[in-house]
Amino acid sequence: MAKYHLRLAHLYGDLLNTYSDVGNIIALKYYAKQMDADIDVKVISIDDHFNPDDFDLALFGGGQDYEQLVVSKDLPHKKAGLEKFINTGKPVLAICGGYQLLGHYYIGANGEKIPGLGILDHYTLSQDNHRFIGDITIKNQETGEEYHGFENHNGRTFLGKGERPLGEVVSGNGNNGEDHTEGAIYKNTYCSYFHGPILTRNGEIAKKILLAALEHKYPDADLSKQRELKIKATF
Ligand code: GLN
Repeated sequence: MAKYHLRLAHLYGDLLNTYSDVGNIIALKYYAKQMDADIDVKVISIDDHFNPDDFDLALFGGGQDYEQLVVSKDLPHKKAGLEKFINTGKPVLAICGGYQLLGHYYIGANGEKIPGLGILDHYTLSQDNHRFIGDITIKNQETGEEYHGFENHNGRTFLGKGERPLGEVVSGNGNNGEDHTEGAIYKNTYCSYFHGPILTRNGEIAKKILLAALEHKYPDADLSKQRELKIKATF
């Protein structure tokens, strides 16, 4: 029996799971085990109530424009709960479509405006008959860590207030192909265009997310062993 128990909300996991974003949950469980923690997973989808007190971390995966449009209609019912979850510092991993939907809006490939939650201050435009596809490497300026992944998106995202990039683009396109940023960090919410899935290739991010969840849920616990966990690069 693990000493610590975490509850993960897989937001719209039945609709948003492009390129096996669900693999991030397998990676989280793998690293959680090394931190003496286990994780219960629940899919929270259309019409399900999201109570922020029921969960310690969340995954919001990527999707096609059509599924994003379906999800966007349900978002207003979850906005208050998600806003509280994110702003109290509980960790979220948001990939591609999920990343776009945390921001104000995404203009889809056919020009349709898909409204997001507006909890994070970014917005996403489209590009004409083109997608950013390929391997990508970025470097986080604060930690010096390099992250590796695969991007495939039409959207071009521009960051806003309170957000800093997950990394600076070393090779590839990143958020918009212009400003050399990739992804976003806001409190303990990590956003990225990386599929792959991101956490299987970049365990350092999994460690940050798990530590944030454990620190939030167990503020008095001695987590020094968890903080010292060495992550072996897997790419
Ligand atoms: N549909 C969005 C885009 O093309 C998101 C894609 C994704 O999640 N892979 O930008």
